Amino acid sequence: MTIGSTHFNHVALIGAGLIGGSLARVIRREQLASHVTAYSRRAETRHRIKELNFADAVVDDIATAVSNADLVVVSVPVKASGAVAEAMGPHLMPGTIVTDTGSVKQAVIEAMAPHLPSQVHFVPGHPIAGTENTGPDAGFDTLFEGRWCVLTPPDGTDEIAVSTVANMWKRAGSMVDQMSAIHHDMVLAITSHIPHLLAFNIVGTVTELEEQLKLEVIKYSAGGFRDFTRIAASDPEMWRDIFIENKDAVLEMLGRFSEDLASLQRAIRREDADGLEAKFTQTQNIRRDVIDAKQE
Ligand code: NAP
Repeated sequence: MTIGSTHFNHVALIGAGLIGGSLARVIRREQLASHVTAYSRRAETRHRIKELNFADAVVDDIATAVSNADLVVVSVPVKASGAVAEAMGPHLMPGTIVTDTGSVKQAVIEAMAPHLPSQVHFVPGHPIAGTENTGPDAGFDTLFEGRWCVLTPPDGTDEIAVSTVANMWKRAGSMVDQMSAIHHDMVLAITSHIPHLLAFNIVGTVTELEEQLKLEVIKYSAGGFRDFTRIAASDPEMWRDIFIENKDAVLEMLGRFSEDLASLQRAIRREDADGLEAKFTQTQNIRRDVIDAKQE
């Protein structure tokens, strides 16, 4: 790799599911690397990666994957990132850039950073793009187009390493932003984690309904429920980790959400038509802002 450029000699992908597999396809399309090695734990996944042919080599050993890499991208469930960093730490070349894609940042930094040698540049990241599907088959090379990628480099991180990672995401079609890990976790708690929690909860409520009512909910789901079912079909393991690893920010935002829900409940009980209409008009405006920001 030429420092600051986006061409790498050897990229190691630790985890090549939806996110890692999509990035691998981008790296191929954009010719960002001379060689790509994918590490995957399970033989079945390695077999699929070979069939899909988005990496030059597929290995079952983290040390082999990273030993010659100038860029390592970790895309595994956030709870697994510490163990991955511990396994790769002793095998990283000085000057290697390590980045990740975890949906939670502070906990991932705390888990990974202690295992990375000081001559390695760690640039934590989170592409805010995804689907409810998982695994290498789910990936596609346009996943990141028009989506934000947030980088949360700790103070003192080498600026050239940060801009190298930023350039890679720009080549994937993303807009790139930078903020502290704590701020990222608070923003994502309300934009992503709480909406997922609501979906898990409302769909969970339906699973408890008596059989006849449940059938009717499914039959008439186009009334709104089906949109929640898409979100609630997201990977259980990934979301288990996100809620536990971002507990503080999620609980803070959930507190605010519960207060607002109670005030809506009160407005309905009191038949406060003006109050309800004012609230729904405000939310309509937010929808317009989302469309204007091309994030619909
Ligand atoms: P995914 O499709 O399930 O892929 C994750 C890969 O990690 C799997 O292929 C799996 O490989 C491997 N893995 C699972 N547990 C592991 C462990 N304990 N040790 C080592 N490897 C393990 O998940 P993903 O959606 O790509 O998510 C990857 C990361 O991106 C997560 O941190 C997630 O928070 C983040 N992210 C996800 C989204 C989204 O919408 N999905 C969006 C942005 C960021 P094997 O099959 O070989 O076990």
